Amino acid sequence: MAQKKIIGTISLAGCFGCHMSLLDLDLKILELIDLVEFNRSPLTDFKKITQHCDIGIIEGGCCNDENVHTLIEFRKNCDILISVGECAIMGGLPALRNQFSLKDCLEEAYLKVPTTVQGNALIPHHEDLPKILHKIYPCHHVVKIDYFLPGCPPSSDALWQSLTNIMSGKSDTLSYQNLKYD
Ligand code: SF4
Repeated sequence: MAQKKIIGTISLAGCFGCHMSLLDLDLKILELIDLVEFNRSPLTDFKKITQHCDIGIIEGGCCNDENVHTLIEFRKNCDILISVGECAIMGGLPALRNQFSLKDCLEEAYLKVPTTVQGNALIPHHEDLPKILHKIYPCHHVVKIDYFLPGCPPSSDALWQSLTNIMSGKSDTLSYQNLKYD
C-alpha cells in the first residue's frame, strides 16, 4: 500500500465554510483517510504542525499579524500549498473593508455601533491580541501558492477531485461540473 500523504489545513480570516465543505465529502472521507493522514488542522485540533506536510490547504486570507506568521510557517512546512476558496484567493468578504481605513472600521465596529453603551466604548487593545493589518491580503501576496481552488466554498467534489489529482501527480484541471455555480 502506498505511503499516506500528510495533509495540513489552516483557517486564517475565513468562516470555516471551506473546512465544512471538506467534511461534506461524507462517505468519501473514509476513502480519503485511506490515502492521507491529517496533521495540523481544525479537523484534528492540532494547533501546530508536528510533521512536514506533503500538501497544505489554506482557508481565509490574512487580516492580522498572526495570520501572516501562521501562513509563513505553513509555507516552510508544506511541499504544496493550495489556496482554497475566495477568502484565501482574493480576500473574500473580509476584504470589503479594504475600501475603508482601519481607523474607520474599528470606530464603526466598536464606538459607533448602536449596541455600544455610550461612555463605556473602547477599541480592544492588548499586547497579547493579534495586530490587525490595514488591509486584508490574499495568501499569494504573502507566500508562494501552488494551486488555487475557487468557490465560496468550493464544493466537496471539487476538493476531492483537486486533492486526488494532485496526489496522483495529474494536472489540477477540474471538470466543468465542479467549477460552475449556476
Ligand atoms: S471562501 Fe466562503 S466558505 Fe470559504 S472561508 Fe471564505 S466565506 Fe467562508
